[in-house]
Amino acid sequence: MTDAVSVSHNFIRQIVIDERAAGKHGGRVATRFPPEPNGYLHLGHGKSICLNFGIAREFGGSCNLRFDDTNPAKEDVEYVESIKADVRWLGFDWSELRHASDYFEVFYRCAEKLIRDGKAFVCDLSADQVRDYRGTLTEPGRNSPFRDRTVDENLDLFRRMRAGEFADGARTLRAKIDMASGNINLRDPALYRIRKVPHQNTGDAWCIYPMYDYAHCISDAVEGITHSLCTLEFEDHRPLYDWCLAQIDLPNHPELVLTLVDAGLKTNVSTPRQIEFARGNLDYTVMSKRKLMALVQDGLVAGWDDPRMPTLSGVRRRGFPPAAIRTFWERAGVTKQNSTIEFSVLEGCVREVLDASAPRRFAVLDPLKLTIANLADDHAETLTFPNHPKNEAFGTRTVAFSRAVWIEREDFMEIPPKGFHRLTPGGEVRLRGVGIVKCIDVDKDASGRVTGVHCTLDPDTRHGMPGAERKVKGTIHWVSARHAVEAEVRLYDRLFNVVNPDDDSDGKTYRDHLNPGSLRVVRGFVEAALADAKPEAAFQFERLGFFVADQRDHSANKPVFNRTVTLRDSWAKTAGR
Ligand code: ATP
Ligand code: MG
Repeated sequence: MTDAVSVSHNFIRQIVIDERAAGKHGGRVATRFPPEPNGYLHLGHGKSICLNFGIAREFGGSCNLRFDDTNPAKEDVEYVESIKADVRWLGFDWSELRHASDYFEVFYRCAEKLIRDGKAFVCDLSADQVRDYRGTLTEPGRNSPFRDRTVDENLDLFRRMRAGEFADGARTLRAKIDMASGNINLRDPALYRIRKVPHQNTGDAWCIYPMYDYAHCISDAVEGITHSLCTLEFEDHRPLYDWCLAQIDLPNHPELVLTLVDAGLKTNVSTPRQIEFARGNLDYTVMSKRKLMALVQDGLVAGWDDPRMPTLSGVRRRGFPPAAIRTFWERAGVTKQNSTIEFSVLEGCVREVLDASAPRRFAVLDPLKLTIANLADDHAETLTFPNHPKNEAFGTRTVAFSRAVWIEREDFMEIPPKGFHRLTPGGEVRLRGVGIVKCIDVDKDASGRVTGVHCTLDPDTRHGMPGAERKVKGTIHWVSARHAVEAEVRLYDRLFNVVNPDDDSDGKTYRDHLNPGSLRVVRGFVEAALADAKPEAAFQFERLGFFVADQRDHSANKPVFNRTVTLRDSWAKTAGR
């Protein structure tokens, strides 16, 4: 299902407004963005970032960046650093940087409290047995035979789990809730498991690790989060989130967080409210770290920041401005209905931002030489052009002009179809900013391919001359052959060529839908000044599209530009293929 984006709607904003009006949390607003550092962030994470940091900013609240690092095996510092860079690039900064692992001791003490209160027990069932006992959607589960262990026995076993006395998987700590609950998440869920794996933040201090649901709600409460925003698949987990917090009752047990105070970490214990919203999905792409990781590992793309990737670092390198991503998610709104937004809507936001912010330049990507017969061999002049057609504040620049210029090959046709308004044998066209030229001769190679065109320039149509306003149907751009700089230009297109690459109903997977034309590299000629562009500087190459100097590879000696987006949507007409 593809939805057009209409009026922006954000039901969470409304909840915050209403709760503040009612004086809840004393009017305070605190959110967090909690990525697991097991990959690079994608555009979907961008939605969560814009929402969490945006709400905090709007209401004068705080937003923490919290690394949800409770799963030691899959995490890495490379991901931690990329996530920080991506959040900042999107235009946000965190109030505090936290790690779920900062709270390992708190989680542990809370677990001992649950055990002492008879709300948790150590279970010796294997993973397979646990599955057996759990029941199904239609059948209740059965109590674990270890459910009635005494508090003392549970405490002793749990402490020995922590001390490393048991093998991975030998025992778990489970909440004692209700094996007959209609919500399977409440059927005595695991709170802790044994994992003898070093952790990127805590080394080998721990060999038991908390489960996501247990760790997440306590982390939120410890940080004083007021609104814990997460995606819809956690809706069924909310009763467990609330159960854990109610049983542990942190606000009335400050002793449980004392270790944090000792460690100098600010705490401000709250009873947070979990609110779920629909994931952001885009057509023509996949947004799962696991699948994106596979593309990288199998060499199907050049890395996490390949400009075709839907990762934040990929679209950054592609030249998408952060403001376009913020605008896009703002317009998409926040609801509880899953939907997929057209990628072209995002590209529309990119064009909108770049149209206003990118200076104009000339570049020729498929060069054909045009020689002006009635200019001297050494003719040289500089012409002045505005950097932006609609905004004088961008100023002007000079562009060298000489007797030979490069034009786009497609701007000349020997046998033009009807309606072709550019250069043809014997025909006239305006060279932008120069005047009107007429084609008087064509060079060809042995195969008949056109290798150059010869023109005369009508001196009467030059700037300030009486014929300067004379009308011809077409205007084309050019760069001086003598002055232009050669550049590598990477013409990117969509990575997948079907609307929903995730759809495997026909037995194909997303890998079968890679667009073979998603990258074409050409050598073109650009205005000399473009060589000095700073990496990541964006331009409109007139008549061609928006381009960005490559973040990694561009230099004055070896200019490299990436096509961010064409000037018009070329996918609309092929949609659905
Ligand atoms: P993935 O499935 O791609 O691995 P994830 O949800 O496992 O994503 P996390 O690192 O756990 O990735 O996500 C951090 C935060 O970003 C979570 O709060 C998660 O709900 C949110 N998030 C992830 N994907 C999206 C999305 N497509 N739209 C909105 N929020 C998202
Ligand atoms: Mg996850």
